[in-house]
Amino acid sequence: MSADVTLANLEGRAVLLLGGTTAVDDVAAAGARAVDLEGASQGALPSDPMQALARLREVLDFADARGADALAAHAAAFDPRALGPPVPRPPKVFAIGLNYRAHAEEAGLELPKQPLVFTKFPNCLAGPRADIPLGSPRVDYEVELVAVVGERLRNVPVDRALEAVAGYTVGQDVSDRRLQFAGRPPQFALGKSLDGYGPTGPALVPARAVPDPQCLAIRCDVSGERRQDDTTAGMIFSVAELVHYLARFCTLEPGDLLFTGTPAGVGSVREPRRYLAPGDVVESAIEGIGRLRNCCVAAAGAD
Ligand code: ZN
Repeated sequence: MSADVTLANLEGRAVLLLGGTTAVDDVAAAGARAVDLEGASQGALPSDPMQALARLREVLDFADARGADALAAHAAAFDPRALGPPVPRPPKVFAIGLNYRAHAEEAGLELPKQPLVFTKFPNCLAGPRADIPLGSPRVDYEVELVAVVGERLRNVPVDRALEAVAGYTVGQDVSDRRLQFAGRPPQFALGKSLDGYGPTGPALVPARAVPDPQCLAIRCDVSGERRQDDTTAGMIFSVAELVHYLARFCTLEPGDLLFTGTPAGVGSVREPRRYLAPGDVVESAIEGIGRLRNCCVAAAGAD
């Protein structure tokens, strides 16, 4: 029987969180517990989150063989603020613009005929409870399903593409619109790569626990007000189609992240516009994957 575990990064060490995503969802309230992977396996499995991800099959086999009860004997309570990004050093971070029909429509733009690909540099990654340092008065939220590549591959047919996905996590593609649209053409990579502009987590949910990534409710609340509310069925290009498309051009590697685009409701196209302000709390949730909770703070030197 498969154990209901997710893989997380606790102060730089790979841990298994017990109880699956329900535990992670309200990690503080539920008093979720973490099992140190290296410790519980007596050194057979690695402590480094990237190495644990690269050996995810072995990690899950270990968890299944031990079973939840035996693992629980190794479990310890933890401070959720000590969780880091589940994939802290991805070789590449792909992100997709305008990948939800309703978001393309609200932006007044034509539906793309092929995926619009940009990058978020890995320095932007932060944990599921990290603060978001606001560097300008026009910082926006974008909740996104993030797929994590599990194997090295190039050229994969659409119907085999999901086999290359190790799992999923929740991501916030925090975006400085002032920087993004400062010139023409706009520069996505920089405006979305400020330090702290890529909260992810709380954990990597193994793909085996997500039979269909295209039917998950996806939401973002800002200080208790629902701003984004859709399902991943609203994507223009599915996760499988995106992996297939990217692998035509780039060798994909274990740990590569794929931010799959955001639904409608971002602040920059609202009337009136609604940007993030210091004190705002951004809650980003995806059904069966988990929830991020990030507080906005004024960045040092911001204007
Ligand atoms: Zn985005």
